[in-house]
This record gives sequence, structure tokens and C-alpha cells, in this order.
Amino acid sequence: MIDKSKKYWHGDSADDIDEYLRLYSGVKSIDVKPVLCHTCGSDRFKIWVDEDEAAIQVECTECGFKKIILDCEDIWEDADPHAGICPECKSKDYNVRVGFVRRDNGSVKHVYIGNRCSKCGLLGSYLDWSIKFEPTNTMENNI
Ligand SMILES: [Zn+2]
Ligand SMILES: [Zn+2]
Repeated sequence: MIDKSKKYWHGDSADDIDEYLRLYSGVKSIDVKPVLCHTCGSDRFKIWVDEDEAAIQVECTECGFKKIILDCEDIWEDADPHAGICPECKSKDYNVRVGFVRRDNGSVKHVYIGNRCSKCGLLGSYLDWSIKFEPTNTMENNI
């Protein structure tokens, strides 16, 4: 359930990111996928983001595994990433999901990052960006 009573919205589980991204993007058909650690399966990450370059790397808070996701590898060298910090409780521990907005042919035209503070539940979207290439299968699967 999303709690909308405060300035920032909060969710009591990572599943609330799906609904949050639907409302945030205004796209009912947005296709939301969880980001899970490839090594230990955890769904909690420290996130490194550059809002200007639209680049994100996730770092598992259980085992330390790091991954530059989606198509961000291409621009990572030029990025100046900083650690995401919850504006409310100052935690750096997030659940992360990605939302794909698709073209009629199924390829992705826009990506949204959805994040939920695992400590206080604060919901947000650090980044979203347009995808200007096709096909997008490789990019989509790189989470
Ligand atoms: Zn891990
Ligand atoms: Zn928080």
C-alpha cells in the first residue's frame, strides 16, 4: 500500500514501486521489473547515480556485487555518480525496480528507475531517460 499522506509518498513493500511508477509516469501499461543481485539474490542496493548523464550503478548491500545496469555502461566513463541518500532518513539502502514504456512494436522507448528506501519506505524515481535505438532486448535484460 502506498501512503500518500506525507510530503513524500511511502510504500510498505518493494511491490509498491510498480504502482508508484504507474502513477509517476502516467503510463498504465508500464512494464516494471525488479533489480535483483546476480550473486546473492538480494533486492537491496546502494545506488550510484548521475542525474545529468542518466547513469546508474547498483551495489548490493548484502554481498557488495556491483552492476552498471541497462545501457548505462556506454556512458559510465563520462558520468560523475554520487550515492543516493534518502532525503528523509539518510539511509543509502534501496529496493530498485525499472519501468519500461514500450512502443507499439514492443521495443522500449523510455526507462524509469523506481526506488524505495528499505528503511523508511520513501518512494522516488532518481532517473528516467529516453531510448533512441532499437532493438532494445540487450538493454532491457541488462538488470
Ligand atoms: Zn548480493
Ligand atoms: Zn528513508
